[in-house]
Parts: sequence; C-alpha cells; structure tokens
Amino acid sequence: MKKVLIIGGGLAGCYAAVRLQATCDVTIVTKGGREESNSMLAQGGIAAALDPGDSPAAHEADTLKAGVYHNRKKAVAQLVTVGPQLVRELLQAGMPFDRQPDGTLSFGLEGAHRHRRILHADGDRTGAALTRFVQGRLQTVTWVTHTEALALVQADGECRGVVVRQVPDGQPQVLAADAVVLATGGLGNLYDFTTNDHTVTGDGIALAARAGVALQDMAFVQFHPTLLALHGRCYGLITEAIRGAGAVLVDECHTPIMANVPQKDLAPRDVVARHLTAWQAQGHQLFLDISAVANFPEHFPGVTANLDRHHVPFRRDHLIPIQPGAHFMMGGVQADLAGQTSLPRLFAIGEVACNGVHGANRLASNSLLDCLVSAAKAADAIAKLPARTPEPGQTLPQVTLGPGHLPALATLQQRAWRELGVERTPVQLQDFLQWLGQFDYREINPAALTTAALTVANLCLCSELIATQALAQPSLGAHYLKEDADESSFITPKA
Ligand SMILES: Cc1cc2nc3c(=O)[nH]c(=O)nc-3n(C[C@H](O)[C@H](O)[C@H](O)COP(=O)(O)OP(=O)(O)OC[C@H]3O[C@@H](n4cnc5c(N)ncnc54)[C@H](O)[C@@H]3O)c2cc1C
Repeated sequence: MKKVLIIGGGLAGCYAAVRLQATCDVTIVTKGGREESNSMLAQGGIAAALDPGDSPAAHEADTLKAGVYHNRKKAVAQLVTVGPQLVRELLQAGMPFDRQPDGTLSFGLEGAHRHRRILHADGDRTGAALTRFVQGRLQTVTWVTHTEALALVQADGECRGVVVRQVPDGQPQVLAADAVVLATGGLGNLYDFTTNDHTVTGDGIALAARAGVALQDMAFVQFHPTLLALHGRCYGLITEAIRGAGAVLVDECHTPIMANVPQKDLAPRDVVARHLTAWQAQGHQLFLDISAVANFPEHFPGVTANLDRHHVPFRRDHLIPIQPGAHFMMGGVQADLAGQTSLPRLFAIGEVACNGVHGANRLASNSLLDCLVSAAKAADAIAKLPARTPEPGQTLPQVTLGPGHLPALATLQQRAWRELGVERTPVQLQDFLQWLGQFDYREINPAALTTAALTVANLCLCSELIATQALAQPSLGAHYLKEDADESSFITPKA
C-alpha cells in the first residue's frame, strides 16, 4: 500500500485522509491535538451554490470580483462546481448543516455574495461541527499528534518524506512516504493581533521555501476588521454578521467611524480594516456598538459565550472593544488544480496552498470549501501516483538544541503588525527587511533549534517573503501600499 503522510490535522488534512484511507496507508502528523486548527474556529460557514435560485456561475463571478480578478479562473471554476458535489456527499453522509423549521437547508448571506449560499452548522460554530464530522469518518488513519514537521526529505528530485519530532524539542526522526501532503494552514501568528489558532505559524510555507519549492502571492494577507481586543491582546473573532444585524463601529466618543465611507459599516473587509487602523493610529479606541441589535445573545451565542468568558460588560454599555487583525493567507505554496507543487510527490492543500482560487482577496466562506475541493483533488492525484518503495524511517544524529540568533517573537509580531500590516509603505518594508537581515533564520538546520526558536525562524522567513513580494507587486486590495507614510486613504468620520 502507498504510504501517504499528511502534515496538519485541520479540515483540509482530515478530508484528504478520508478520501485516501481506503487505498493508502495514511498518517496525519499534527503539531497540537486534533482540535487545534483554524478549521475548528471557523464561524460563518461554507459557501456552496446549492439553493435552487443560485448557480456556480454566480458564485464564480462573486469569487472573481472579491479576488480582484487576480484569481486563476480554472481553479475558481473547479471550486464552484466540484464544491457543491462534495457538500452534497457530506449531507448524504449525515453532516448536520442547520435547517429551516420546514427541513430545508438554511442559507446565510455574507458580504460580497450576491446570493444566500452560506451553509452553517451549530449556529456560528460551523468549523468545529464540520471538522469533527470529517474526523469522525476517519477509520484506518494513524494520528501522530503533538509532533511537528521540521523539513522535507528529498532525493532524485522528489519529495521522499518529512523530518518530524515531538513538541517541544523531541528527537528528530525521518518518516518516509510515497507522497507528502502539506496541510499546515496559514501564518496568522506572524502578527500580534490575529484570529488564528496558536499552532498556525507559517511552518508549511517555511519548510517548502527552505526546500526550494515555488511560492506565490506571498504579499496577500487578509485582515479582519473586528477581533475582540482587551488590554492590547486579541481573543477571537467578532463576526461581521453582527454589523449585518445593525451594529456600528464607533470610537470612545461614540463617533461613527465609517459614517462617510460608501457602504458604511458594511464596506469590504479591507476598507473597514484600513479605516479602523488609521483612526486607531490617531489615538482613538475602537468599539462595536451593538445597541441596535435585537436579541444579541440569542442570535450570536458563540460570540456571547466568548464575551462572557472574558467578562466584557456588553450587556450594560452595548460596546464590544475591537481591533483589526491578521485573518487569512491568500498566498502560499504554489499548487496546481490537483494540489501538486513544484516538487514531485509533494502536494499542498487548504490555506497553506496558493492554487489561485482566492486571487488577491478571499471571498468570505470560500476557504472551507477550498479545503474540501483541494483535498479531494489531491487525493485523486495521489491515488494515481505509482508507488515507490520508501526507505525505512531513520533517526537522525542527535544535535545540540539552541535558540539561534533570532528576534523575540513579540518584537517580530509587533514589527510585522506595524510594517507588514493593513497599510504598508516602501520605506517601512525596506526598513523591515534591513532589520530582519541581522538574524539567522534562512540557512539553518531546523532540527538544531528548539521548537520555540524554530517557530520564530519560520515566521521570520515568512515575513521576509511577504515584505519582498509586497515591494515587488502592486497592492490589489487586501493590504494598501502607500507611496509615502503621510499619504492618507482615510475619510475623516463625522464628529
Ligand atoms: C476565527 C476564524 C474564523 C473563520 N471563519 C471562516 C468561515 O466562516 N468560513 C470559511 O470558509 N473560512 C473561515 N476561516 C478560514 C478557515 O477556517 C481556514 O482557512 C481553514 O480552516 C484552513 O484549513 P486548513 O486545514 O488548511 O488549515 P488549519 O485548519 O489551520 O489546520 C492546520 C493544521 O496544521 C497543523 N500544523 C501547523 N504547522 C505544523 C507543523 N509544522 N507540523 C505539523 N502540523 C502542523 C496545525 O496544528 C493544524 O492542525 C476562519 C478562520 C478563522 C481563524
């Protein structure tokens, strides 16, 4: 039986494993536990043109528009046609998407979708419901949890396996495979403000880059306007559906920040994030005023539970303290329509991959769908691969673990937020690269670094790729490249 190694236990990795388990010997290696991934945190839902009045063509048009037509058209066509088939299969297998009282599927509407096409489950806990459902269908798959991938093993121009170790700081070991699937998610933890799970630290992108595997669109990071912000830290996403229900972004004087902007509080994510960042830079605090939202706890049970967990007095003052933060990575490891990367026998699926489906800016709720489609397509391609006999796993010589000459994680995250964030200038990007130049993160032996140091080294490498690409490529929406620091994109709110 062919041996397939899947790195990452989120929706993409688990769904690939489900599709491969009947024909291959599949192992999922994941850095944390089975519940630690961005997939488990997804709130809004999964987009699929299943409603009778909707069509794949309409979904395709919305996806291309949100992606500023930087998308790969064939990848979008595959997403919107194969996606609904896979969702139907999941429904037939018993996936409990939310339904109307009459038993028909309940479709939600999100920003930039022209049709109600967002399926959700367990209210605003779709990601957990879907990922657990898929994990529940794994039968013959081996899980290796709390284990991190350090480097790819290559021979004869092919990927032959992965060097892994238990976290933290275990003994490195080679796991050989006929095919390796990267499903390690994005890089939100490069920034001090992020919605991402703590295990999502750009590792897949960094280990592909160190192996010379092609990357694409690394400048394109999506920032979400509203994260719960308390004492300078973020504690999860405040869904934009709350603004859809009438909430308004205000400052400490109750000034409506988006009042003079077209579409106001429901302007595209990047526009709102940019305005909030600029207003905050002028010394203001940011809040979401929910006084106009009727029955808030009933409509937003997940967000309410999070607010209560953090003792936010929103029932009294109707204000949620918020802050923009890093949310999603459009760029990543270049992959074709079947997830094949530039290195034979190495596949990339889900958020770590850049298959061109999201273009310059992701349409809301398209990423869970892409996890399913990219995983299914990669599984089909792997099923057709000829087997090769993997060498037996070997243990690598013991090395002395060290911290390396690296910045403190907090310093890197703060600089990344300031200089690689929503608004960037060429001068700031060059300063960032110059600062980064003093550290050793590129030509390293990953196995010689502690787990904590390797995380920083990986994030340094990702940040270099983002800064370099941001200087080379015009901004197309997700971030804003200003020619100089004084130029303002900001429309002053009404006092
Ligand atoms: C708060 C939040 C809300 C969201 N809401 C939605 C939504 O409503 N709809 C939607 O479509 N999308 C949403 N997204 C985006 C979506 O959840 C993700 O893009 C998607 O789940 C990514 O899935 P994935 O399987 O590619 O990666 P992930 O689910 O992030 O999984 C990556 C896995 O790789 C593991 N890993 C990382 N590095 C290593 C390593 N070195 N070795 C081994 N394992 C490693 C991680 O621990 C994790 O298990 C949301 C994201 C967040 C953060």
